[in-house]
Amino acid sequence: MVKKRLPVETYIHGILNGDRVLLSQAITLVESTLNTDLKLAQAVVRGILPHTGKSLRVGITGIPGAGKSTLIGNLGKVILKAGKKLAVLTVDPSSKISGGSILGDKTRMEAIVGEAGVYIRPSSTGKTLGGVSAKTREILLLCEAAGFDVVIIETVGVGQSEVAVREMVDVFLLMLITGAGDELQGIKKGIMEMADLFVINKADGKNAEKALQTKSDLKKILHYFPAPENGWHPTVLTCSSLYQEGLQEIWELILQYEQTVKKNGFFESNRSLQQISWLESHINFLLEQEFYSHPDMAPALEKAKRQVLEGKYSAIGMARRLVNFFFNRSGF
Ligand code: GDP
Repeated sequence: MVKKRLPVETYIHGILNGDRVLLSQAITLVESTLNTDLKLAQAVVRGILPHTGKSLRVGITGIPGAGKSTLIGNLGKVILKAGKKLAVLTVDPSSKISGGSILGDKTRMEAIVGEAGVYIRPSSTGKTLGGVSAKTREILLLCEAAGFDVVIIETVGVGQSEVAVREMVDVFLLMLITGAGDELQGIKKGIMEMADLFVINKADGKNAEKALQTKSDLKKILHYFPAPENGWHPTVLTCSSLYQEGLQEIWELILQYEQTVKKNGFFESNRSLQQISWLESHINFLLEQEFYSHPDMAPALEKAKRQVLEGKYSAIGMARRLVNFFFNRSGF
């Protein structure tokens, strides 16, 4: 069935006027796999581009169960109270591994669902992280053009997705929980280095004391980290998302961070660097997509795998042959 599509100007004007229905439809175009939809999506994104860039982009990561959706729901209330409009997007490439979605299969962020100033868009189940993050970037731009002041991009901290999200946002919040005893040892140093704010959640009831201990342990560890180039020393807070304690402080710290990096120039320079990294990663994504979707490549790839397994070629040599074949259609 061919779905009804509107003229490109209709989407553009609708989005710029904050029309949620047209925004959602445009996002569906971005997420589509049909070439005609993607062309239309490109034209829409081009049209709204001059009206983007004004939101504060906030990344939030943490393991499943850390309390991300509870936090975003209740922090969302604080953000709304401050008179800001909030969009929440998710990057969830977990579907690739499990066939299901970690973030999408339950009712989430109940505290703000249906609020007038809030737009929540779970990620479509993309097959690759490159694809999901390319689409998320465009969806972020669409939300900005629709007038959202704050865009939260949430990801499950289970793999590479936090690196992708770090490259899309202005400030990055890592959510931790305490209680397991060795909670800090399980976190990859690379992820810790990406965070501007650390939030130790579930600091309530019997956990409250342990959370404070974790905070103090974490502060000691951070002390040995090299001075960050953004001029901001990563900050550690405890909170209870469920009982809504410490959330105002988190919001204020996010604003303080924004102020600091806008003043020292990092905000702008980081956004410029991000533009370049968007360009580079999108080239990779498009090349990969072209390579794997070309009808000649599937049989060539099958043959290549067989020949590597039979020992006729090394994996590296064969990769080179395949890439040459892709560009020249010869020599294979
Ligand atoms: P997510 O997978 O990171 O999005 O985590 P959820 O927000 O779904 O929370 C996972 C579980 O932890 C739920 O049962 C929440 O009710 C609970 N939870 C979340 N935040 C808190 C908190 O601050 N304190 C306590 N005690 N439980 C919490």
